Amino acid sequence: MIKTRFAPSPTGVLHVGGARTALFCWLYSKKMKGKFVLRIEDTDLERSTPESVQAILDAMQWLDLDYDEGPYYQTQRFARYQQAIRQLVEQGDAYHCECSRERLDSLREQQMAAKEKPRYDGRCRDMGLKPGAGKSMVVRFRNPEQGVVSFKDHVKGEVNVDNRELDDLIIERSDGSPTYNLSVVVDDMEMDITHVLRGDDHVNNTSRQVNILRALNAPVPEYAHVPMILGDDGKRLSKRHGAVGVMEYFEAGYLPAALLNYLVRLGWSHGDQEIFTRDEMIELFTLDGLNKSASSFNTDKLNWINQQHMMSAPLGDIVSLVKQRLDRLGISHSGALDFASVVDLYRQRVSTINELVDSILYFFQDFAEYDAKAAAKAFKPTALQPLQRLSARFAALDNWSAADIHAVIEAITVELDVGMGKVGQPLRVAVTGGSFSPPIDQTVELLGRERCLTRLERAIAHVSAE
Ligand code: GLU
Repeated sequence: MIKTRFAPSPTGVLHVGGARTALFCWLYSKKMKGKFVLRIEDTDLERSTPESVQAILDAMQWLDLDYDEGPYYQTQRFARYQQAIRQLVEQGDAYHCECSRERLDSLREQQMAAKEKPRYDGRCRDMGLKPGAGKSMVVRFRNPEQGVVSFKDHVKGEVNVDNRELDDLIIERSDGSPTYNLSVVVDDMEMDITHVLRGDDHVNNTSRQVNILRALNAPVPEYAHVPMILGDDGKRLSKRHGAVGVMEYFEAGYLPAALLNYLVRLGWSHGDQEIFTRDEMIELFTLDGLNKSASSFNTDKLNWINQQHMMSAPLGDIVSLVKQRLDRLGISHSGALDFASVVDLYRQRVSTINELVDSILYFFQDFAEYDAKAAAKAFKPTALQPLQRLSARFAALDNWSAADIHAVIEAITVELDVGMGKVGQPLRVAVTGGSFSPPIDQTVELLGRERCLTRLERAIAHVSAE
């Protein structure tokens, strides 16, 4: 059975790059009917925080990336790491090293001056040092001196690294804590991870991890190191590009399924298909489809994909998200309004839930003022007569329906011998405050007679005062 893991370090919120890695791991496990593990790599005690752990869990939940095991916390597994370190020392695959920081610094300087690659020179390798009271020592892995370490990478092909390129890595710090490469290896081994999918910023660690796995007699997983996400200037995506935590996309009104769809395309493709549901992604996902080159984050495309999902999602889902947002804004939305129709009218015209809510606010509360441009254009003195007639007819209309409202508007254009725009547009600005809305007869119907008449009075007063 295949098993993947997402192993974030909780040193901040979950960004899009991390979310994409999580998605690929999740997708592959689902596709292969395997298991997906969440592992929190919190060994960096200074930089890890409980808030960051919570932010990661929240984001995983919002994106609905469910895991079969975990979350495991590395800080709860120190005893296990120490056991593995002892095993390596006993086997002769690791050794204690007493080199001081000063010695290592000056070694590094000499090597740099001689234009050599900085590396540990192996001074303590064969000294058989034993830890003891008062001695500050680290433990180093005895990397093989010869041969080539190779691993299978589904993005980069087979990767071969000459062992002479690798030095003896510290696996236990002088305070007894394990280093990243050691704890990852022990966990991948004990959690039976078969496929490691992660960002290619880790590719240089992999050859070292493979050597440690071999020394521990553990099977070597298959790897897929996915290229980084870039900003639109070709540099690695960062806050500078407006790259934000995943939950900010929730705040901004994106749908989780759309964000996942966007992220999957940012590093994977299936022909030229752009829109995928979660089930389609699972069905179609392959490691072969992972892109070899980096892709750039593009907010316009994210908006477009979000819009596609807004249109295809069950209307009830969009309605409840809109209601949630109105609640969060403290805007009352109870009453006779045909909510589903309003949302359906608008969802085709906006990219996000927030835009949708902004554009339907006039259904729930009176707007503070007219959009200045719209009012300047529509509220000329000639608008007075159409507005007055609309008001009178609407008050007397028997059947408050879009069709009858339409008939009223049309009759007034005929009576006054003017075009549709001369009646419809003042009406639109009067009832919505702006110059944009879905078909005016439907808008007026949904808004309801009472609100409509009050707003017509307000517009008549406005035009009269000009
Ligand atoms: N904890 C590492 C990180 O957040 C990932 C380790 C891994 O995937 O092997 O970058």
